[in-house]
Amino acid sequence: MSSMSSNSLITTDVDYDQGGYQAGYLRLPYSHDRSGYGFIPIPIAVLKQGEGPTVLLTGGNHGDEYEGPVALMKLIRRMPDLQISGRIIVIPGLNFPALLNGSRTSPIDNANLNRVFPGKRNGSLTEMIAHYADTVLFPMADFVFDIHAGGLSTNYLPTVLAYPPLDPVRRETYRKIVQAFGAPRVMIMDMLGEDRTYGAAVERQDTYFLCGEFGGHATCSVEGTRIVEQGLERMMHALGVLNSRAPLAPTLGNRLLKVEGAEHYIFAPVAGIFEPAFTLGDEVVAGQLAGRIHDPRRPQAVPVEIFFKAAGLIICTRTLASVEPGDCLGHLASDTDWP
Ligand SMILES: [Zn+2]
Repeated sequence: MSSMSSNSLITTDVDYDQGGYQAGYLRLPYSHDRSGYGFIPIPIAVLKQGEGPTVLLTGGNHGDEYEGPVALMKLIRRMPDLQISGRIIVIPGLNFPALLNGSRTSPIDNANLNRVFPGKRNGSLTEMIAHYADTVLFPMADFVFDIHAGGLSTNYLPTVLAYPPLDPVRRETYRKIVQAFGAPRVMIMDMLGEDRTYGAAVERQDTYFLCGEFGGHATCSVEGTRIVEQGLERMMHALGVLNSRAPLAPTLGNRLLKVEGAEHYIFAPVAGIFEPAFTLGDEVVAGQLAGRIHDPRRPQAVPVEIFFKAAGLIICTRTLASVEPGDCLGHLASDTDWP
């Protein structure tokens, strides 16, 4: 029998059970040539007051998505003055090496944090972060919100991604929280059998989970950041955690959308330069021209035309014109109802 502990090797200088505001670090052990006994400090802030639920807010799961990290850094600076009932745990850059590098994956182990859950105690750095989230952070949380955007290669209309629980009572509670967030669009998701994501790991613990795509192209979207900041405030009021300010007025309601499988996606069949025939936010019909792929080595050749297979709203576009076979050029979503 191994006597090896299953406890995370990541430690922290914040005490999650202590009342009041604390700002500190997760210490991710990283022994390498330049620093034999070193660690990577990942910033974290905690506020605990009175009785109430624990809310975990994370950004920087992918390091080239900026609305979450910016909104959460601004929240941290407000936290010392907030009046709450419960606990708020905020990590603006969960895969911190990726955030500092401005890349989707970690520059140290090339891993995508959102594909390595539940992680490994003694795995690569990204796997260790996943393991800490899965064994320490998620079990403390009643509600988890992981904030994303399209990253370098894609751009999204700002949209909350909702994962309604199966239990009808929990589903109704969840619906109220999502509606309180007040995003202009809500996409109803299911995990589609992908069990390596952050969201799938949270769901395994029967904890409410929300995420969202609030921009892309490795920029910080003005509209997306505003939606995240205002949505967080409304959502924390709806959860009963935040009570220091009058709640923001509710929004007019959100458009409910669903991605209906493979026919909603378009992919590049050949390499070349993609000239789209659409822009983000267009409504398209089946059979409509989606764009042309030009071959820069054979400029006289007729470009390959790509057509939409279904109707819908263009909610995601590729931002990089250079394509290889299999690259996603964008995808649609169509109207739906609450499940
Ligand atoms: Zn992401």
